[in-house]
Amino acid sequence: MSHSLPLTIPDFASLPPVFYAATQPTPLQQPHWLAVNRPLATELGLPAHWQTEANLLALSGSLATYPHSPLATVYSGHQFGVYVPQLGDGRALLLGQSTSPDGRRWEWQLKGAGKTPFSRFADGRAVLRSSIREYLGCEALHGLGIATTRALALIGSPDPVYREQPETAAVLTRLAPSFIRFGHFEYFYHRGDHHAVRTLADFVIRHHYPHCADAAQPYLALFAAISHASAELVADWQSVGFTHGVLNSDNMSILGLTIDYGPFGFIDGFSHHHTPNHSDSHGRYAYRQQPYIVQWNLSCLGSALLPLAAEADLVAVLDQFVTHYETAWLTRMRAKLGLLQTRDGDRELIEALLDLMQQERIDFTLLFRHLADVLSDEPALPPMLASLWPYPPLFERWLARYRQRLRAEHSDDAARRTRMNRTNPLYVLRNHLLEQAIAAARDQGDITLIERLRQRMAQPFEHSDTDADLAALPPAWAADICLSCSS
Ligand code: AMP
Ligand code: MG
Repeated sequence: MSHSLPLTIPDFASLPPVFYAATQPTPLQQPHWLAVNRPLATELGLPAHWQTEANLLALSGSLATYPHSPLATVYSGHQFGVYVPQLGDGRALLLGQSTSPDGRRWEWQLKGAGKTPFSRFADGRAVLRSSIREYLGCEALHGLGIATTRALALIGSPDPVYREQPETAAVLTRLAPSFIRFGHFEYFYHRGDHHAVRTLADFVIRHHYPHCADAAQPYLALFAAISHASAELVADWQSVGFTHGVLNSDNMSILGLTIDYGPFGFIDGFSHHHTPNHSDSHGRYAYRQQPYIVQWNLSCLGSALLPLAAEADLVAVLDQFVTHYETAWLTRMRAKLGLLQTRDGDRELIEALLDLMQQERIDFTLLFRHLADVLSDEPALPPMLASLWPYPPLFERWLARYRQRLRAEHSDDAARRTRMNRTNPLYVLRNHLLEQAIAAARDQGDITLIERLRQRMAQPFEHSDTDADLAALPPAWAADICLSCSS
């Protein structure tokens, strides 16, 4: 049997063999579709009836032979600040590449398709729970307009996978223009293979940052472009209260994509210290730390580029990250407040609000969403906002400042409300919603909530009367949700 997916040999395979290992996936028993992302399939130009038996086998890693051998790539990285000399795609295989009707190229990866030479001591599998999280996580970020890898399909199997307890296996088909990480550069640099660092940099420039080729110093321009993309990405995360959870340098995409969804989380009751990954006891990857950590990871990438550019120049690029990030963050936060103009004191206004929210653990998403109801000349607290603040006097004082700021730029209430409701989502993929979708799929084989969440999170700004439950504050049990890296 052969598949009918429009896959060709990926550009990545044009790199020398030191970059990858050809690896056959390990078949799964009784694979079945759990979720298929139809809008993405359309975007990719897949035919209407592409969910064939052969394609199910292909995307679960269960075909007897693949037309061209799938590839696992090798990388390394700094995990929790410590350099680990060899990581790599321990359970991900690059199946091929397709070109969508709009001309974009997509690499297709199977995650959970079995052991690879880079699996170290692990089984090469992914459990259902974490695969649902990644499937929905990346589509939720995409719906928010945030750069991310994408998810096309989720396939389940009764095959057992052993973590803290027995679970079942799943394979995710994920797509991105490239899955190259900072860790790919680090691997070759730390082995002293500077020739490979150059080869990889040339590849990335040619395929993903072609404008850098025209710069006076192409490699420095590449570092600046990656730094820029990373600053934009982390500013996006901060603006929606998203915490990645495991921001190791091997989980940093050279395209500034959100990649490798593990113990991530959207903040419910706000805290700067929100750390969804329960193994991260020091809060290294807490919400507030993310911009610093991204810059730290960029310093790891910069070190790996030392064979290609002068250290002082790389450091200068790294230093610019701060300004870039601050500007990107302020731009987004002003938009969240509905402000059109730039004024002194805006940063203080925003920070004062976040501090108040932290004191009372106010829901991040609903607070910003309902801020749109504030009228610049009306001191009464809008009812939806009032319902969020158990003790509002300090918030009312802040609101007085905010209204004054709105009046200073002659803000039009109705226009601002429309603008803010396009910026501040009503729905985010809260952990308790994910837990419900996982429990239904795992315990009852009921996959309806997975599709319902995918659809809702694709349009997180549009109010829907039938989805009030998806916008509600989390139930009390959500506070006990425990996420770990084990996936
Ligand atoms: P992650 O925490 O998912 O970013 O993974 C860190 C490293 O461990 C990467 O090199 C993964 O490919 C590898 N890895 C994680 N889980 C498994 C697994 N179950 N089997 C093989 N390799 C894995
Ligand atoms: Mg990873």
